[in-house]
Amino acid sequence: MTTFVYDFTDGNKEMKALLGGKGANLAEMTNLGLPVPPGFTVTTEACQEYLRTGREPDELAEQITAHLERLEKQMGRWLGDPDNPLLVSVRSGGAFSMPGMMETILDVGLTDVSVHGLAAQRGESVHSAWDSYRRLIEMFGRTVCGVPAAEFDQVKRHSDDPKEMVAAYQKIFREHTGREFPQDPREQLDLAVRAVFASWNSERAVLYRRQERIPADLGTAVNVMAMVFGNLGPDSGTGVAFTRDPATGEPGVYGDYLQNAQGEDVVAGIRNTVPLQDLERLDKKSYDELLGHMARLEEHYRDLCDIEFTIEHGRLWMLQTRVGKRTAAAAFVIASQLVDDGLIDADEALARVTGAQLAQLMFPAFEVGAETRPLAHGVGASPGAAVGPIVFDSARATALAAEGQDVILVRRETNPDDLPGMIAAQGILTSRGGKTSHAAVVARGMGKTCVCGAEALQVDADRRELTVDGQVLREGEEISIDGTTGRVYLGAMPVAPSPVVRYFEGELAPNADRLIAAVHRLLTHADARRRLGVHTNADTGADAARARRFGAEGVGLCRTEHMFLGDRRPLVERLILAADDHERDRALAELLPLQQADFEDLFRAMDGAPVTIRLLDPPLHEFLPSLEELAVKVGVAQALGKDPGADLALLTAVRRMHEENPMLGLRGVRLGLVVPGLFAMQIRAIVQAAVAHRDAGGDPRPEIMVPLVGAVQELETVRAEAEQIIAEIGDGLPVRIGTMIEVPRAALTAGEIAQAADFFSFGTNDLTQMGWGFSRDDVEGAFFSRYLELGIFGTSPFESIDRAGIGRMIRIAVDEGRAARPELHIGVCGEHGGDPDSVQFFAEAGLDYVSCSPYRVPIARLEAGRAAI
Ligand code: PEP
Ligand code: MG
Repeated sequence: MTTFVYDFTDGNKEMKALLGGKGANLAEMTNLGLPVPPGFTVTTEACQEYLRTGREPDELAEQITAHLERLEKQMGRWLGDPDNPLLVSVRSGGAFSMPGMMETILDVGLTDVSVHGLAAQRGESVHSAWDSYRRLIEMFGRTVCGVPAAEFDQVKRHSDDPKEMVAAYQKIFREHTGREFPQDPREQLDLAVRAVFASWNSERAVLYRRQERIPADLGTAVNVMAMVFGNLGPDSGTGVAFTRDPATGEPGVYGDYLQNAQGEDVVAGIRNTVPLQDLERLDKKSYDELLGHMARLEEHYRDLCDIEFTIEHGRLWMLQTRVGKRTAAAAFVIASQLVDDGLIDADEALARVTGAQLAQLMFPAFEVGAETRPLAHGVGASPGAAVGPIVFDSARATALAAEGQDVILVRRETNPDDLPGMIAAQGILTSRGGKTSHAAVVARGMGKTCVCGAEALQVDADRRELTVDGQVLREGEEISIDGTTGRVYLGAMPVAPSPVVRYFEGELAPNADRLIAAVHRLLTHADARRRLGVHTNADTGADAARARRFGAEGVGLCRTEHMFLGDRRPLVERLILAADDHERDRALAELLPLQQADFEDLFRAMDGAPVTIRLLDPPLHEFLPSLEELAVKVGVAQALGKDPGADLALLTAVRRMHEENPMLGLRGVRLGLVVPGLFAMQIRAIVQAAVAHRDAGGDPRPEIMVPLVGAVQELETVRAEAEQIIAEIGDGLPVRIGTMIEVPRAALTAGEIAQAADFFSFGTNDLTQMGWGFSRDDVEGAFFSRYLELGIFGTSPFESIDRAGIGRMIRIAVDEGRAARPELHIGVCGEHGGDPDSVQFFAEAGLDYVSCSPYRVPIARLEAGRAAI
């Protein structure tokens, strides 16, 4: 026979799957000898059967009867008894906490008869007995029978006599259900249990589970517990307590207490609570006892616990405990302190913090309590808090930044042209695009605050203004943007810089305070444990230097395209428009020393560590002016009978370069094979920079990476050219040549490609784009929200690696690449390299390193450490 009901004395905290979190912890406390009101738990298996078949398991009623009898005997009270009634609470409790998502019914067992017994027992507080009965009819009516809450609220507005209210509520119940309020207490109990089962599939519970990625078939357990009352007078009350401060992790007494009240009064905020410390004055005996239990629980659970308790006529009862939720800061502090207390070891401490928590600690934030009503909402694309006057174009952003102003760059969307402005701005705000739009990806790369897709904003860059809700903001007006929540505020809100970043930057000592000491300790341990290397994506010496301070062990990706922007643009334009080889060679020759200087900066910043430089990737037309604008300009000139001059040649070139699908077009290695001399120039610049740095006494470790390879022949062609240049000017310096694996075909022919590669680096942005067939620039705003809603994926596959699909290609490429060439060095440099979940996957897949933006380096270090324990 299956056991569907467990007494609290029968279970323990390991039985969460069967008894739910609440039930398992009630059992644990009971068996620790703590004062838990007696009771029993109906298992999740019983719920699963109910959800499957629409009926309770056959044995359930009988098992409940047996446990109920035991409970009645223990309490010396009986359910529905006219003189000495037992009242029970019926509460949901799944394996994962789903706060407020499912049902609770209190005071089960009260009837027209037993309410008198309760009233007689209560003596002084007859009123409270009727009040309990009123609450039961309301909760039961709403949750079991679906009576609209508004009906009961209506009564509450007209009466505060509970006896009168009971009569009115019963009438409402009758009208809505066509029957009397059940006077058989056992029927009340059975229906309440069933209502809790059914609440597993309530709309809000389903939605919550989808969001939190909790499996839909687990079901909830149901806890039936003898009621104790906190509303029986001044010597009674109810409260919540934490064994440490869940906000900071500091040890101490934290919590709230409400005298002469029931638990739901605290939740409903009907009356103001007092700090838990005040209980010492109100009821010293219970206070001391509570503190003793709290210490016991923390030692037993070896973690912060939160607790709900009730005091009934001076007697303390523990109603619930669980390992408590906490802020990111508290997570680090607590984990580290528990090591000091000898309760856990360093590995366990590391397991208890996450990269996502560390990420939260690294962003500046608006000061607590400073928030006002938001002006607009967008997607929180790159966390942080930024404040400043708005500007509408890159030039203005750069100009004002040069004067020392912290500006917010506001655009409809951004493109590579906006890069200088994005670098100069404090924060970026767009009215279009999602988490993988250009603005979002670039901003995250730079660790810059960004809100994308705030659709309520109408941005008019030409008029230098934006309109929102009929309100017009002009250039120079101040706004504040929160890249975590996606909120946009009018005016300047106060911001606090992240002390954790100041520590990484070397501005604060590792023992500056408890939080920094904890971060330092856990990261040091992660470094000692991890097998995965952590490199950085950096395009400048300054970025590389910062990443190194943050713990990067090399540059895993330098995107050379940024070096083609800004002042160099005219040179690039000449390169693209070159009428003959001679003109093109001249343009290339002018670009070469500029590139060489860029690379020397990188080698200096990463002296002694590998620097992987990727040859030019994006389509060349991105460096030319917009087709539409140019066509209009030429058209207007012609219509006015003027000579469009050079613009006409430019237009012809832009037209020639134009592609419908540039992401699938002439970019990466394709560009290198089509534009003579382009890759050769870059390779020369790399090799010359390395030689120069070595000659200056440095230790350069250059690596040349070829993007967008899909066939080994592409790589072989570039490799042959590179080897020739290296032989010619490399002066014996070792230069490794490898490829990105970012086209599905490359992943699937990795064995062949490995023959021509010293290393692989997975470009998971493109691999995801081409693997799913999702355009990384368009997709999020277009339909991702619908996909998330439908649960097709829980997080965007551009953010967290899709293990089943894209991950499978990665595993194939790792296996086949290594089989063909065992010494092949393998990393990843897509956005996923800094995503905590994805780092776990890359460790499992056996990669040698991940490469991510400088600000994500500590996060990747931490996650790589966690992956190794
Ligand atoms: C990638 O595709 O993952 C990658 C790193 O290259 P990019 O983002 O520059 O296309
Ligand atoms: Mg790519």
